[in-house]
Amino acid sequence: MIRPILKYGDSILHEPARRVETVTAEIDRLVEDMIETMYAAPGIGLAATQIGVALRIFVVDVSIGRNPAELIVMINPEFVERDGMQLEEEGCLSVPGFNATVVRPERAIVKGLDRTGQEQQREGKGLLARAFQHEMDHLDGMLFVDRLRGVKRDLIVKRIRKLARSGKW
Ligand SMILES: [Zn+2]
Repeated sequence: MIRPILKYGDSILHEPARRVETVTAEIDRLVEDMIETMYAAPGIGLAATQIGVALRIFVVDVSIGRNPAELIVMINPEFVERDGMQLEEEGCLSVPGFNATVVRPERAIVKGLDRTGQEQQREGKGLLARAFQHEMDHLDGMLFVDRLRGVKRDLIVKRIRKLARSGKW
């Protein structure tokens, strides 16, 4: 089931998510909805908080459904390693219409559980490392806008507030 994606300003997006206690059938259905919602958007990643569920789960597929092997489901993810630095334009399904250059690690290794509850570890470079960091930020209640500094951040927040006031957000 495709779920509505929450937008910047919704409180769930701005608070840290809780760990998943047990990977149940209900969690598996939630993961299925997250994958469907990500592909429908379309996007390369989605965190559970973006569909209003405050649990530490994200899905990522930098091929956007073209290569099934690239679909990654991470439950209770943690960083094992992060190194390097990349500067690229980034957007977010919860901040539609806005992009900004964000500093991210060039390489990242994340471990967590897959949708069957098995432990797994995945390495990402470039875009995948960026997606890992972006989704991990969501689980800590942080959006890419919060990673920006000064004028850049203020400008986006101001525009969002204006859209919200006129009912267009
Ligand atoms: Zn996002």
